[in-house]
Amino acid sequence: MTDEQIQRYSRQIILSDVGGKGQQKLLQAKVLLIGAGGLGSPAALYLGAAGIGTIGLVDGDVVDLSNLQRQILHTSNTIGAPKVESGKQMLSAINPDVTVYTYSEHVNADNIMELLQEYDIVLDGSDNFGTRFLVNDACYFAKKTLISGSIFRFEGQLTTIKPHEGYPCYRCLYPEPPPAGLVPNCQEAGVLGVLAGTIGVLQAGEAIKEILGLGETLADKLLIYDALDMKFRKVGRPKDPDCPLCGKTPTITTLEEHHVSCSI
Ligand SMILES: [Zn+2]
Repeated sequence: MTDEQIQRYSRQIILSDVGGKGQQKLLQAKVLLIGAGGLGSPAALYLGAAGIGTIGLVDGDVVDLSNLQRQILHTSNTIGAPKVESGKQMLSAINPDVTVYTYSEHVNADNIMELLQEYDIVLDGSDNFGTRFLVNDACYFAKKTLISGSIFRFEGQLTTIKPHEGYPCYRCLYPEPPPAGLVPNCQEAGVLGVLAGTIGVLQAGEAIKEILGLGETLADKLLIYDALDMKFRKVGRPKDPDCPLCGKTPTITTLEEHHVSCSI
């Protein structure tokens, strides 16, 4: 590490569980963020500041004024720009150590396997069930650790998914997406910006823990945060032997697209 890097990361290098070796691991880590929106924004900022050496941003949208209430990777000056370009600009300004790769596209069954290839860890901050199930299935086939976060009104959920290490997958908990029309769309549901911040930052924290191999994993648990009651709950998330994806006799053996309306 250069003198500048030692100075930049000094507050985390002096943590005995991180140290110079841990910082090197962070600098060598490659994290892909699905979505540069409400969850991806705070996650990207903290991952970039911590010195995650390679960050990939996937998002097909452009910055809209109504995003700025929660998507803090973007500013009033980047309204109209692709979110991934706006995000890259911000991350480069915070930390020039970070190499940012941008993919200005929506993930789908045709492009996701190639997108995942170069990365160690995937953070899903997508805002719809279709993408969430697609990302889960793709990470399962590609054997990538997935940190999944979601928010709905005043409640957030967080879990780590790594069935390649013997833990349950997302479908062990939710075998299928809800039927279309059951979940309100973005405009109908609304979202408290700070809740997106809370869950996105927690996703970044779990990603850093997975990279460093520190602490307790969320791979067999689901964290539920109720912002109104100010309660965090961790519930067990067991492996389902009959899971359609990672069970003994899987029925899902290829990627399939689900079109379900937005949940944020
Ligand atoms: Zn499963």
